[in-house]
Amino acid sequence: MPKLDRQLDEWLGHVLVVRSENLSTRWDNGLLHPYLFSDNTCAIIRGDVVVDNGCPLEPNGSLIFGLGYEWGPTQQRIFEDTIGPHLDTGRWDGIVSEFRTHWANTCSVWGDATIHWLEALAPGVRPVLHQLGKTVEFRDLRSLRHERGTPEILVNNVGIVSTTSFQAEEIRSSIYTRPVTIGDERLTVEPRERSQYRAELIAARGMTEWFSHRHTVEQWTPQTCVICEEFFWPNALNDTDIRRTGRPRYCHLCSAMMRRDPWALRRLTDKSLRPILITIAQRFLELTGMFPHSKIRDTSIGGLPEDQRDTFARLLMLIPRSELVIRLFGSWSHYLNAAGLLEKADRKGYSGYITIANDGHIALSIGERIICDWLHARGIGHEKEPVYPHHPELNPNKKLRGDWLIGDCWVELAGYMDDAKYANQMLRKQELARACGLRHLLLLPAELGRLDAIAREHWGWAKGQCD
Ligand SMILES: [Zn+2]
Ligand SMILES: [Zn+2]
Repeated sequence: MPKLDRQLDEWLGHVLVVRSENLSTRWDNGLLHPYLFSDNTCAIIRGDVVVDNGCPLEPNGSLIFGLGYEWGPTQQRIFEDTIGPHLDTGRWDGIVSEFRTHWANTCSVWGDATIHWLEALAPGVRPVLHQLGKTVEFRDLRSLRHERGTPEILVNNVGIVSTTSFQAEEIRSSIYTRPVTIGDERLTVEPRERSQYRAELIAARGMTEWFSHRHTVEQWTPQTCVICEEFFWPNALNDTDIRRTGRPRYCHLCSAMMRRDPWALRRLTDKSLRPILITIAQRFLELTGMFPHSKIRDTSIGGLPEDQRDTFARLLMLIPRSELVIRLFGSWSHYLNAAGLLEKADRKGYSGYITIANDGHIALSIGERIICDWLHARGIGHEKEPVYPHHPELNPNKKLRGDWLIGDCWVELAGYMDDAKYANQMLRKQELARACGLRHLLLLPAELGRLDAIAREHWGWAKGQCD
């Protein structure tokens, strides 16, 4: 049985063949450098050692540098007492039950320095962490920093360049075996951490320790990729992969290709490529009901049922990137126009960047459509794009809108947290809600699969009550 259709499956097959040829012959395509894959999961600490998770990849999760921070039971107790009142433990537990040691990768970990990854689960935590960093128990703590080593440029025989340092690797493997404790002999005399960085280290170490004793999770084992059928370690998926594709299901290579241009690998003439890309755009709309807009690769598909998620994943591997589209068609609109889609979009009165949910609400992403459809199916009344109340500093012109108002709960879906501007605005809304005494919920794409639990806890919904 075809996965998409005979033609698309064949093209995807070709892309995968070219990919493996590239992997074995050249790495300088910027696409699939195998050395860039590492174990990105959260460590589990037992006693004062990290539990071996069996994964052969080099540890490099976003929380790992917390392991190099001086720490003891006093710090942990104060951390939990201070952060506890802010942390939504029900949601944290829910995420951990699905994502295990990948839980931290569902939050926005990278981004603007002012954005803290814990904000979705612990609203208002940033100033608290900064304050904590100034207290006597934390302000003089030292850390083994990976940046201390001099970066060395490594060039292999086909021109791959990577900046790393042997010293950095040594430190990394040392703290990954045994995290730094108060007075650790590996610490040399170091200046105190900068305040901003200190807050991050405190959050990283405190949450890793807390996760380790609160949760008992199964470690990951190798899986077969649904798309390319190769074995892979789910640990190799990074935060972007997890946020965009959900629970591990596609290998790190396939996940990476959903964000890259598969056609860059193929030596096709522009003339033969153009009709292929047109067919892909057309089939994209037919198979998903979603316009293949220019930002479609940024969308999160993790909340979709598995069969729909697989369809999207395969299509995202085929859809071209903007650079190629601009070269071949002039612009993304010209591309959609050439596929006869722009006309369709216009007739329906929307621009091709959006989709319409079953209740008629305009949805800007797959996630928004999932939530509207979920609410609609259960007859839960909601307002879309509600205007936040006026606030002299945070919302002077009443321009800020939420994603939904469900009862008295203002809900936002953290759809594009990779974008610093978008994420900053999200935090401003959160701050505004606190200032105005509104109930506010910043939902993560990772939570789309467990809306029942969210609705029970936050929207006063009881199953069977209105469905
Ligand atoms: Zn794969
Ligand atoms: Zn709706």
